[in-house]
Amino acid sequence: MSTFHVEPINDLIEHDTSGHPCVCGPTERPEKHDDGTVDWIVVHNSLDGRELNEPDRREP
Ligand SMILES: [Zn+2]
Repeated sequence: MSTFHVEPINDLIEHDTSGHPCVCGPTERPEKHDDGTVDWIVVHNSLDGRELNEPDRREP
C-alpha cells in the first residue's frame, strides 16, 4: 500500500506530505487496483482559494 499526495503547485503554504496531518485538511480516498492492492490518494487543498468557483461579484 502506498500513499500518493496531490498538492497544488506554488501554493501559499508548504504541504505536509511526510505522513503528518496537513493543515489544509486534505481529502483522502482509496484507489483500488485490479490486482487487489489499495493505494491512498491524498488530495491537498490550495489555501489561496483557487478552488472556490465563486462567480465574479461586482460591488456597486
Ligand atoms: Zn496540504
